[in-house]
This record gives sequence, C-alpha cells and structure tokens, in this order.
Amino acid sequence: MLLSTIERNIERLSPADREEMARRIRLAELRARAGPLTQLELMVSTKCSMRCDYCWLDKRDGRNMPLAVAKKALDLLLASAGDSKQLTVVLFGGEPLLNFGMIRRFIPYAESRAAAMEREIGWSLTTNGLHLSKDAILLARDHGFNLLLSIDGQPGTHDAHRRTASGQPTFPAVMRGLDLLQRYQGWTGARMTVTPASCRSLPENFRFLVGLGINQFIIGPDNDARWRRADLDAYSQSWREVTRIYHSEKAGGRALRMNAVEQREEKDLEHVWGCGAGTASICVDPAGDLYPCSRFLGNEASEKAFWMGTLQDGFRNLGALHDLLDRRVTIRHGCMRCRYRSRCSGGCPATNYRHRGSIYWANALDCRLAREFASIGDDALPRAVHLPRVAFEDTAIPYIDLGLREEET
Ligand code: SF4
Ligand code: SF4
Repeated sequence: MLLSTIERNIERLSPADREEMARRIRLAELRARAGPLTQLELMVSTKCSMRCDYCWLDKRDGRNMPLAVAKKALDLLLASAGDSKQLTVVLFGGEPLLNFGMIRRFIPYAESRAAAMEREIGWSLTTNGLHLSKDAILLARDHGFNLLLSIDGQPGTHDAHRRTASGQPTFPAVMRGLDLLQRYQGWTGARMTVTPASCRSLPENFRFLVGLGINQFIIGPDNDARWRRADLDAYSQSWREVTRIYHSEKAGGRALRMNAVEQREEKDLEHVWGCGAGTASICVDPAGDLYPCSRFLGNEASEKAFWMGTLQDGFRNLGALHDLLDRRVTIRHGCMRCRYRSRCSGGCPATNYRHRGSIYWANALDCRLAREFASIGDDALPRAVHLPRVAFEDTAIPYIDLGLREEET
C-alpha cells in the first residue's frame, strides 16, 4: 500500500525532481557508509606572506574565509557528526593568522554552539610564525590548544626553502615567533618539512630544534619533490638517527613528543587503508566549496576530480565520495600482496592522485616510508606484542615495482 503510494507520487515528479530524489537517496546511503563527520578542515586564508618553494597552494588569488562561511561549515559538521562527542576543527591555510580577526570571533561561537549540542571541539592551527601575537597565543591557550610552528631546522636549511614573497629569509622572524610561543604558550611544537636536499641533514636539524627547546615534532617529506632512490635511502637512514636521538634525549629528561614514533612503538600497528579524507573529514575553502582534504587543492586535475560540492548545495560529486569510501584490497594497485598492507594506510590519496592518477595507487615515497616506519616499529616493539620481523627489503612487491623508473624512486 505504502509502496504503491510512493510509486504513484514518483510518477508525478518531473525528470529533474526524480533525478534529485535519486541523488539524495544515493547520498544518504554513501554518508551512512562513511560514518559520522568528525573533522572540519577550514581554509581560513589562502593568503600567505611566505613563498616556500615546496608549497602546493597557489596563493595568487589568496582569499580570507568570511565568518559566515565558517559558521555554515560548522553547521555541516554539527549536523553530520552523528553521536560523536569529540570533534576537530583544523584552522588551515595559507597562513591562517592572516585571518585572525575572523578566527577570534569564530572559536567562541563554535564552542558555544557545540556545547549546546553536548559536543566538544578540539582545535589545531599551524602557523608560519610571521604573524604570531600574544593575542593569538592566548586565544589558543584559553581554548585549550597549542599553536604549531612551521620551521625546518637550522637557518641554512630553513631559509633554503622558506622565504618571503620578495625572496627574503624568514628564519630571524620565525625565531621571534618561537620566542613569543615559549613565553606565552610554554610547550612548543614544530612542523618540519624535509626535502631531498635536506634529508641527509635531518638529524642535525632535529637536534638543533631540540636544542632551541622545541618539545613536539611533526616531520614530513615534501611529497611533490623528485626523490631519487639515494635520497629515499638517506631519508630512511636519517629517520633512524632521529628516532635514536629522540629516545636518548627523552631518557636524559627532555620533555619531547613525536607521535610518529610513539604510536608505532606503543600500539598503533594496524591501519585502515586510506585516511578519513572526504568521509570522516571534509575541507572547506574560503568560498564554501567542499574537498576531501586541503591536499586536493592547488592542483587543477585533483581539484576538478575531487570537488565534492558546496556548503550551499551540499555534496554533489557522489562519484568522488564513492571512490573515497571504496577501500577494497582488490583495487589497491600494487598493494595486494604486500605484507605490510595491514599496517599501512596506503599513501596520501591526494598525493597518490597527483603522482599516479589514482587515489588507490600508492606513490613511491609514501610506500617506502610506510615500510620504513613498520620496520622501525618492529625494532622497538616490546617482546609481548612482537610481530614477525620483516626486513625492509624482504617484501612481496619491492617499492620499485610501483611503476616508477629507477631514477625516479
Ligand atoms: S608558509 Fe605554508 S602556506 Fe605559506 S608558502 Fe609556506 S608552505 Fe605555503
Ligand atoms: S607499503 Fe607500499 S605496497 Fe605495501 S601496502 Fe603500503 S603502499 Fe602498498
């Protein structure tokens, strides 16, 4: 009876309305599979005062996100969070502090809206250090989070890549930012980007920053650089040395934290293949366009293929959502027989897409690092949870077989 009523009503719909109804049913099904949305990545500003040579973002049309867009993005998060009580908002850029006026109004607004729905928001903001102020640091402190500073190491390493728009070095200004952070924040964290040119000096750059009193480290490679096999070998070697320095400094009483090392060594051995981009997390640009993650921006092909919709009209690109959800092992090109696959998240999907034309085709750099980290984890595992030791070279599919030419790996 009910079905025949529905059928009769469907027949009365215009073709456009039928199409829209089908889209909504499909979207509801995909969102149910995706699970709750728990993280919002807000591109609060696509402007920047720096021109780092490894930056993937085109800052020529830099824009600040209006408060109204941020509020609408929050509506989306709160409406899609299901039963999740703990939500995350990443204030991203560009340089997010170039839109500090909006941020200082948005944070209290978002927290009070979330609290009214019995939710809590954890915040994250990484700055280039050029626009730090006591106000910004105290705002973060009052809302329970620390600002993270982008700094690559010693002046020579840092200034080789991180310069102003007019080509001036930025290290002295970043030091002033660090001084403010240490004065008003206390615990300081650094985001280090490593390039093929700096991978060999990573241990000394790490030691230098530890010596400056930095407590927490996120170290990641320049994914779009040209990494040769010799660079990857050197980078792996450097990571081992950094891990050794880290443990030795901690043993000596230094307050340090590196999640990349701790998680490998504590418990976090199993990984779901693929990250939460586009499913548990969504990126909103200053105009209110939706993307799986900021890393899909700044590249014409990935922006076009993975534009997901707008805050105004909701999710439109259901094909992209479907692809991001599809984590079957049978479509992971090159990973099916890899013995690390249960401990590997398969590379950044955006980087995979840019380098290989498929989010499921792991890029060589991430693949190599996944194996290296698995191997570092093996070294440090307590006996009780020890997994069979897998030599780095002893893999079913050597990373070289991922399709790159020898000189490009
Ligand atoms: S500070 Fe960040 S956003 Fe600015 S140019 Fe450097 S990498 Fe790009
Ligand atoms: S280590 Fe490489 S081949 Fe193995 S699952 Fe990860 S990306 Fe795939």
